Amino acid sequence: MTRAENNVDPAELNRFNAKAQTWWDLDGEFKALHAINPLRLQFMQTHVPLANQRILDIGCGGGILSEALAKADASVTGIDLAEDVLTVARLHAMESGVSLDYETISAEQKAADCPQAFDLVTCMEMLEHVPDPASVIAAASQALKPGGWLFVSTINRHPKAYALAIVTAERLLNLVPPGTHQYDKLLKPSELDAMARHNGLTLQASAGIDYNPLLKRCRLSNDLRVNYLLAFQKDA
Ligand code: SAH
Repeated sequence: MTRAENNVDPAELNRFNAKAQTWWDLDGEFKALHAINPLRLQFMQTHVPLANQRILDIGCGGGILSEALAKADASVTGIDLAEDVLTVARLHAMESGVSLDYETISAEQKAADCPQAFDLVTCMEMLEHVPDPASVIAAASQALKPGGWLFVSTINRHPKAYALAIVTAERLLNLVPPGTHQYDKLLKPSELDAMARHNGLTLQASAGIDYNPLLKRCRLSNDLRVNYLLAFQKDA
């Protein structure tokens, strides 16, 4: 088996496929992703222009980020392995008249097929769902042109994240489906940075994503203890 075939948890894909129909419901299972999406774009835009950039969105899901990037005039390829989710993504793009490509392919296979092809790679809220996140980071680096940027977001393996992202969001507020996040699979920023450095990617910026669903408030911060964004640049 190749590293790509290994690096999938079928139970994770099943969970996402089962919820696919609710992906674009602003008050549904994925409302947290809808809420934080403008911040992710804002963070990216402070570092790079998006227009006319070739972007690979790894673990794109129903396309919340992919569509926003395409609307910012980037040329976007969204990839994921959850078929039903991609069906929803394709239909939604047609409905909203946004032009972009979706492919059912692993990050590792896409990078092998298209090395050094992308100006930007995004991988948001996905690494915590794969058995071998380092393999995804290696693929992201391989897919990037020298000097290209990788933007990653995920949840920190920190007690504050356990309290907020798991206990509060999943069990108390029903904000995220129960079982979405397993604490021991979460990555610390230092661990993600080590994986990136190992693959020729240098950390350029970081931000915390503060999301308060009760106050419906969302902002970038310096607190990386819960949900965080890192920006890396591939060595030239
Ligand atoms: N990046 C999107 C969706 C995040 S949800 C956003 O932030 O808006 C996580 C996504 O990762 C789901 O769509 C799920 O199907 C996908 N995923 C999980 N394991 C994967 C794998 N091994 N390869 C590709 N995608 C995967």
